[in-house]
Amino acid sequence: MAKIEDFNFAGKKAIVRVDFNVPLDENGNITDDTRIRGALPTLKKILDDGGSLILMSHMGKPKGKVNPKLSLLQIRDAVAKALGRDVKFAPDCMKAQEDAKELKPGEVLLLENLRFYPEEEGKPTGIDKADPAYPEAAKEMKARQKEFAKTLASYADVYVNDAFGTAHRKHASTAVIADYFDKDHKMLGFLMEKEVKAVDSILKDIKRPFTAIMGGSKVSTKIGIIENLMDKVDNLILCGGMTYTFAKAQGGKIGNSICEEDKLDLALDIIRKAKEKGVNLVLGSDCVAADAFSNDAKTQVCSAMDIPDGWMGLDAGPESVRQFREVILPAKTILWNGPAGVFEFPNFEKGSREIAEAIVEATENGAFSLVGGGDSVACVNKFGLADSVSYVSTGGGALLEAIEGKVLPGIAAIEE
Ligand code: AMP
Repeated sequence: MAKIEDFNFAGKKAIVRVDFNVPLDENGNITDDTRIRGALPTLKKILDDGGSLILMSHMGKPKGKVNPKLSLLQIRDAVAKALGRDVKFAPDCMKAQEDAKELKPGEVLLLENLRFYPEEEGKPTGIDKADPAYPEAAKEMKARQKEFAKTLASYADVYVNDAFGTAHRKHASTAVIADYFDKDHKMLGFLMEKEVKAVDSILKDIKRPFTAIMGGSKVSTKIGIIENLMDKVDNLILCGGMTYTFAKAQGGKIGNSICEEDKLDLALDIIRKAKEKGVNLVLGSDCVAADAFSNDAKTQVCSAMDIPDGWMGLDAGPESVRQFREVILPAKTILWNGPAGVFEFPNFEKGSREIAEAIVEATENGAFSLVGGGDSVACVNKFGLADSVSYVSTGGGALLEAIEGKVLPGIAAIEE
């Protein structure tokens, strides 16, 4: 596998899969340009070397149809501003041969949303999976996906994948395209390299003690990760809404707190496995309970195992926070995924904020801390602490699958 830092792009055309799926407001203005900024080191290296850039991305879920609301034309100016140069636009990603051919060193071409074609995702459209004709339709779509990827590949000399957010998908631009480049002409971009290194730090090069903090609303969406981490961590904090599924499973009274009734056995199983594997499972002992799901609700601190009728646990209590800090502060490796409470309500953000602050303190003392997967990223951003942890991942689903121990197709396609 080639390495971007060692590759000289002078005189080469590079097709780069970026994740420019940025959020837009109703007028098409970008509300958060983190993803564009994240791709800049890779794009600048290619341009500074004297290469030219063909940028490709998806935006939203157009489901294989042209949808002007999801056109990448809306972000062309922002990309141009970030790169400090003009950006040409190809309004049909399958008809960019001429534009690509004419590109000169230092020039940039942005392709229209790849997902305007169903071939990008490679799933047959308009046919149900239960339909007897589905397998044939799926086969035909796979063949079309190869052709689609081949056309994209034909625009360039080199393929760079820098879209970690879609690395868990086997799409034309994220994986299939790699088949059309030899091993010296395909590589991961800088952002991807950073993400892979961050995941390796918590799955392979672990410095101990290792404390993982899993929060959020449900245990069901986190079970794959919890099981994979159980073989690796020293301390596992389970907080947020899943606290109450665990409390109920152990015979607690949880009032109106969020609970997955069908996951009570699973919760007991996790407790048993943690004991077997010698993992210190930390379930907060108290909570801040509210008499309604509202920021202005009345509150009281009570045991997470004894919540009065009509009340619900919406945040970790002070004793829980003390328990969490005790295993976060001495940690040398930390993973945080999911808030400890309904942090969107200022009155119930304290548990999550104190976790974030403890992680920052541990990081200052030399720990490697990775924050990733949706809402915990929103938390560190809200608290202004994103720059004070070791790494904030850009990948939601991709990060979670990587932590579950799954091989990501976008990375495998390049490493093969
Ligand atoms: P997830 O997407 O599973 O990581 O869940 C994140 C969501 O969990 C956030 O929107 C939080 O508001 C929510 N959450 C955290 N703690 C609780 C709780 N105790 N009750 C209800 N929702 C919670």
